Amino acid sequence: MHSKTMFSVNQSTPSVRRIAVIGSGMAGLTAAIKLSSQGHDVSVFEKSRGPGGRLSSKRVTDGAVDFGAQYFTARHAGFRQFLDTYAGPGSYAHWPARFVFQRNDGSREAFPDDERFVGVPRMTAVSRALSGHVNLHGSTRIRNLARKDSTWELVTVDGERLGPFDRIVLTVPPAQASDILLESGLTDLAGRIDGMAGSLLPCWAVALHFQEPLDPGFDGLRCDHPVFFWIGNNTSKPGRPPHGQWWMLHADPDWTREHLDTPEEEVVRELKEAFSELADIVAEPDDWLAHRWLYARSEHNDRPGSLWFADQGIGLAGDWLSGGRVEGAFLSASDLVSAMAD
Ligand SMILES: Cc1cc2nc3c(=O)[nH]c(=O)nc-3n(C[C@H](O)[C@H](O)[C@H](O)COP(=O)(O)OP(=O)(O)OC[C@H]3O[C@@H](n4cnc5c(N)ncnc54)[C@H](O)[C@@H]3O)c2cc1C
Repeated sequence: MHSKTMFSVNQSTPSVRRIAVIGSGMAGLTAAIKLSSQGHDVSVFEKSRGPGGRLSSKRVTDGAVDFGAQYFTARHAGFRQFLDTYAGPGSYAHWPARFVFQRNDGSREAFPDDERFVGVPRMTAVSRALSGHVNLHGSTRIRNLARKDSTWELVTVDGERLGPFDRIVLTVPPAQASDILLESGLTDLAGRIDGMAGSLLPCWAVALHFQEPLDPGFDGLRCDHPVFFWIGNNTSKPGRPPHGQWWMLHADPDWTREHLDTPEEEVVRELKEAFSELADIVAEPDDWLAHRWLYARSEHNDRPGSLWFADQGIGLAGDWLSGGRVEGAFLSASDLVSAMAD
């Protein structure tokens, strides 16, 4: 495990702020670590038990399968440096896979050259390691912010009040950010993200386990297909146990919208059949897991990076403000931390 960095907090210095970060995905963890490293007194609040958000893995008998982000890029040198410093170089690795794009006429083409990384031995290894550097409060769902003199308090869904804080950093998806701002009476701020709330697309994710390895000619497939958005061989990622194979199927956003209320077993059956047809396989899976994401990937790339409302002391960051994806979440939080320092 990477050693925990101790950030010195000196409450007597006027520029030291008490900062609440809401959400512990890549954006929240990045913001918390960068603000702590500036000497601020930072607390992170997360509705789930553990950190990571859409960097998500579910436990299976012999390890875990990645249900959210499948891999991430690190095109900006600052992102690699951040990961090496705070998550540790052992928490992630290059995934040297056969990535192909399949058009709707069935023709395939290799992905453009790029380095693609995964957490090792599971995606959440990265968020776990990063969270070791922050003061994380799990199982704490924030409903709204409440003014207390010149500071803020957080109000949880159970009515508990937390604080006071000088600054608030919201890193939750846009629909949830909008709800929190509206519940707080901050209609102007909610108006600033109006129209972005629907920008995260839904996704049914199904993992299938096969006793005998399959080889459909790819490890990762992005497709222009009525059912699928992505198909990946989770077992081909570095550090995964080699017992049989786990395949991850991500449904297309339109298909998911049409099947939002379809029972899980039915979704698994339909995706399994479509996978057999697409990959031309006859083997039957012996285990499966499913998860319905209401907010998966962002479809917009023309966003401001982050939003900082200096008068209110409230900032917003997240993948949806910076081109989507894991690296976008890092860049958005970095952008916000710079804006807050100005
Ligand atoms: C199925 C799927 C596939 C993907 N594939 C890829 C990929 O291959 N490559 C890639 O780069 N990206 C991929 N992504 C996108 C990537 O996962 C995200 O861009 C990134 O993880 C977003 O990080 P974030 O910190 O902005 O948001 P999140 O990870 O969503 O973090 C927000 C956090 O806020 C918490 N929260 C929400 N509301 C509250 C509240 N009221 N109180 C407290 N906490 C709250 C949530 O629980 C969550 O932990 C994928 C995502 C999904 C779901």
